[in-house]
Amino acid sequence: MIISGKELSTKLKAEMAEEVAGFPAKYGRVPHLVVVLVGDDPASHSYVRGKAKASEVVGIKNTTILKPDTITEEELLALISGLNADDTVDGILVQLPLPGHINESRIINAISKEKDVDGFHPLNVAALWMKQPCIVSCTPKGIIRMLEAAGVEIKGKRAVVIGRSQIVGLPVAKLLLDRNATVTICHSKTVDLPSITRQAEILVVAIGRPRFVTGDMVSEGTVVIDVGVNRDPETGKLCGDVDFDAVEPKASVITPVPGGVGPMTICCLMENTIECFLRRSS
Ligand code: NAP
Repeated sequence: MIISGKELSTKLKAEMAEEVAGFPAKYGRVPHLVVVLVGDDPASHSYVRGKAKASEVVGIKNTTILKPDTITEEELLALISGLNADDTVDGILVQLPLPGHINESRIINAISKEKDVDGFHPLNVAALWMKQPCIVSCTPKGIIRMLEAAGVEIKGKRAVVIGRSQIVGLPVAKLLLDRNATVTICHSKTVDLPSITRQAEILVVAIGRPRFVTGDMVSEGTVVIDVGVNRDPETGKLCGDVDFDAVEPKASVITPVPGGVGPMTICCLMENTIECFLRRSS
């Protein structure tokens, strides 16, 4: 079974659009997401366009603020401070990566935790690990949504996550643990990775290496979630961290790249924006 993140996100966005359509009558306005984009990295521009398009579909007001990469850290902090104080703004997202002269942590820490739709603020991260109400970051949340939609039982399963980044590997491992999977986290220093991945009943791969997970690394019936977004060195096309053609025949459930986790990440950004709006409106 191939889980199409594209189809699932279309369905969820349509449901959100219905909900948001009722907001003006109830709350006098719709949620407002502000995306700050620094510099002219084409990939970042494309991600930001995707976020604006999804906002339009859902009925969320989207403002994209473009700044040149000559902006100073202080100027960016001042911009965020203004957005934090602006009552008409529900969600603030600063598109990463930022230019080298800007300290990303300082910028993320400056976003009000109530408007941190990416869920990257240390207080939201801490709340996740302490099982307190928080904004869960979009990619891990999207992965869980996909598993749920595919009817995958997480409880009691052996889950292996390859990658331990703050934005994907660690939070998705925590969400799986919270749903009672037995979780192993692997990374670049893991010894004999294939012997561990072959034990996985659920395998989440977030490393950023084209087609790294080969058929012999996966057992029959495994649920495989491919988070990677890479350029195929030969064709230049988008590909995942999993060798899809080799792994798909063995997997019980698998996500494609493109059209898998990526669209669900944007979908969950919409969910988080609505969540921030509702918390602020109640
Ligand atoms: P990252 O911060 O670079 O982390 C990569 C992780 O993979 C690290 O923990 C690293 O281990 C591990 N790793 C690297 N090489 C490995 C190897 N040979 N064996 C085992 N582990 C290895 O990356 P990220 O931000 O988590 O992103 C991972 C991928 O997901 C990228 O392709 C990214 O573009 C994609 N992504 C997609 C979405 C989406 O919405 N679809 C969202 C976010 C990210 P160490 O910790 O030991 O260095």
